[in-house]
Amino acid sequence: MPNGNNARRALTGVALLLCALACGPGRAESTPAPETVATQLREAALAGHSIAYSWVSELTTRFGPRPAGSPGEQQAAEWAAAKLKALGFDNVHIEPFALTGWVRGTESAALVAPSAQPLVVAALGESPPTAANGVEGDVVIFRSFQELAASRAPLAGKIAMVSQRMVRTQDGEGYGEAVAPRIDGPKEAAQRGAVAFLLRSVGTDSHRQAHTGTTRYVDAKVPVPSFALSNPDADQLERIVALGQIPRVHLYSSASYVAGTHSQNVVADLKGSTRSREVVLLGAHLDSWDQGTGALDDGTGTAIIVAAVKLMRDLPHRPQRTVRVVLYGAEEVAQPNAPFGDFGGNAYAAGHLSEMPLHVLAGESDLGADRVYTLAVPEAVAKGEFRQAAERVLRPLGVLPAPRAAEEGGADVDPLARAGVPLFSLNQDASRYFDLHHTPDDTLDKVDRAQLDQNVAAWAAFIWLAADGDVDFRSAAPQRSGS
Ligand SMILES: [Zn+2]
Repeated sequence: MPNGNNARRALTGVALLLCALACGPGRAESTPAPETVATQLREAALAGHSIAYSWVSELTTRFGPRPAGSPGEQQAAEWAAAKLKALGFDNVHIEPFALTGWVRGTESAALVAPSAQPLVVAALGESPPTAANGVEGDVVIFRSFQELAASRAPLAGKIAMVSQRMVRTQDGEGYGEAVAPRIDGPKEAAQRGAVAFLLRSVGTDSHRQAHTGTTRYVDAKVPVPSFALSNPDADQLERIVALGQIPRVHLYSSASYVAGTHSQNVVADLKGSTRSREVVLLGAHLDSWDQGTGALDDGTGTAIIVAAVKLMRDLPHRPQRTVRVVLYGAEEVAQPNAPFGDFGGNAYAAGHLSEMPLHVLAGESDLGADRVYTLAVPEAVAKGEFRQAAERVLRPLGVLPAPRAAEEGGADVDPLARAGVPLFSLNQDASRYFDLHHTPDDTLDKVDRAQLDQNVAAWAAFIWLAADGDVDFRSAAPQRSGS
């Protein structure tokens, strides 16, 4: 937003537009039908009244990268809380939790034999540093995680590398397949005596940049220094092996840990009118990886959910249920006591355990900002009027019913699902996302404003339908295991 006066004028315009459409002559006192309001929210988002782009622009410009537990993440949380208060949200507060931070430091990699060549790497998150003079070894390449895990070859003194390729798919499913070696590769390498672990980047691009990401703690430590290698460099090492030569690589990292720091979740409500104890929860994460500015992962997710609820806030009436925005901290990192990710998600679910029965529905936005193309709803409402109304409101946005009910929502809301909270998912087109994910290229210029606003339109419309009513999303919800 260029300045405060313009912002105020735009917001007054939204309220007038919405009231003109929704209230009608003589209807200012009563709340119009939920589907009518959902349609108007959708149109207001598409008409340029969403604050999503200005939110993500300001977030990524003011703070840049926001690694879990860093001053950047903490300051971004304080900024977000102040901003949410100024936007008129209720119950705005910060919920801190203790954390061990990780700092990349400097890093380098080079092929030292059969010929000297530079390589582009990024240490995996939580990876320990190398010795001060680095670590060097012959590289043994495994084509998949399964091949490494099944191998009986001793790797003493060697560098284990997995060259598994990520497949580009619209639903992002290729990531789930390809990420296994990033999570458990260091453990498998260490068990065979390897001195370091190398991974072909979990990403679909062919740029000379490496995709970082978290790995897993084993017995309170990440077992060996571990790095992602740019995809063209991974190709190069494979061709060297195909020539019958053995690549020998030197790796260096000065990564370090910061004990006793903290991260935090930012919570803000739009208080409901008649069922205010019931909560519809919208999640996204405020932390990011350190190489880019976390525009798509997950600045836009926070922007989409805040902008959607801000459009509702501008209405002359409230939905029946409370709509809660949670901007999670520390989504990206593993912790010794929560070995893989979703740290802010676990902290929120644990801190609000007694309220879980009143959390009626939850979903998160964390797959970039390209358009929403399918909607998945809980099994309990897979048939019936709620789903039909949602499809009517979303179809003009090009959003189709997902083939399956929503089962997983993402790292931040999955702890809620394990506590019995039904999930929905507004699934985004992820075809392009993994070219940029966890790289230096995750920056604001990659955000497509029209697609960002389509996301806001879908979230605002769907959430209004869910919040302004008494639909039970839980009744037939399948029981989840606690795993
Ligand atoms: Zn993310």
